[in-house]
Amino acid sequence: MNLFRVRGIQLAVHFSFFLLLAYRAEDGWDNGGWPGLVWGATTLIAFFTCVVLHELGHSFTAMRFGIGVRRILLMPIGGMAEMDDIPRQPVREGLITLAGPAVNFAIAGVLWGGLALAQVPDEALDGYTLPAFVDLLMFWNLLMGIFNLLPAFPMDGGRILRALLALKMPYMRATIWAVRIGKIVAGVCALLALILPPLLYRSSPAFLIVALFAFIIFAGEMELRAIRRRELEDAHWRAILARTYQTFPPVEEPPVLIR
Ligand SMILES: [Zn+2]
Repeated sequence: MNLFRVRGIQLAVHFSFFLLLAYRAEDGWDNGGWPGLVWGATTLIAFFTCVVLHELGHSFTAMRFGIGVRRILLMPIGGMAEMDDIPRQPVREGLITLAGPAVNFAIAGVLWGGLALAQVPDEALDGYTLPAFVDLLMFWNLLMGIFNLLPAFPMDGGRILRALLALKMPYMRATIWAVRIGKIVAGVCALLALILPPLLYRSSPAFLIVALFAFIIFAGEMELRAIRRRELEDAHWRAILARTYQTFPPVEEPPVLIR
C-alpha cells in the first residue's frame, strides 16, 4: 500500500505490517484493556516511524551521491530502501550505510536528553505514561542502531564489513566473504533468538526474529548472485563490444535493497 512521497521517494507499507499491528494491539488489549491496546498500537507506529527515518538517513545520503531511491517499503521484519545502485567506492558505500544507524543513535540521544532534562522520576517510567513511551522508544532506537551494525550482510554492519574488506581485496571477493560471515552471524543470532526468547525484544513473536535472520541469509545470497551475474554480463558485453564496436541500450537493473 502506497502512503506518501518524501522528496520523490514513495513510502509503502506491506499488508503483513497490519498483521503485526493487529498482533501488537491485541497483545496490549490482553495486558491492559483499551489503554493497553492504544499503547501497543502507538508504540509500534512510533517504532516504524523511526525505521522510516533510518531508511531516509540512507536514502538522503545516497541521493547526495546522485543515486536514485525508488521507494521505502515497510514490512514486519523492518524497512528497506530500494536504490538504483550502490556505489562500488567503499567510502561512499560506508557513508550511505552508516547514515541509517546514525539516525537511530541521534534519536536515542535526543530522547535521552529530553528525559534527563525533564528529570523524570523512576516511578513515571512504569505504566502507560509519556515518559515510559519516550523511554521505550529510546531503548528501541539504541537497539535498532546496534542491531543493524551486526556484521550480517546485507544488513548495515555487513555492508560496512564489505566496504572495509573491499579496501584490501577485489569487490567480488569482499562480497563473498561478507556474505559468508553474514550467514554465520545470522545463523547464530537465529539460534540465540530461539534459545533466549524474551531477553532482547519485548512482546515480539520469536518466529519474526527467526524470519528476519532467514531473510538476511536469503537476501545476502541473492545480492551476491546479482553481483556475480552483473560481473559476468559486464565481461560478456565488453567482449562483444570489443568485437563489434556497437553500443547497446542500457539494461534495466533490479534495485539494490538497503535495510
Ligand atoms: Zn540500515
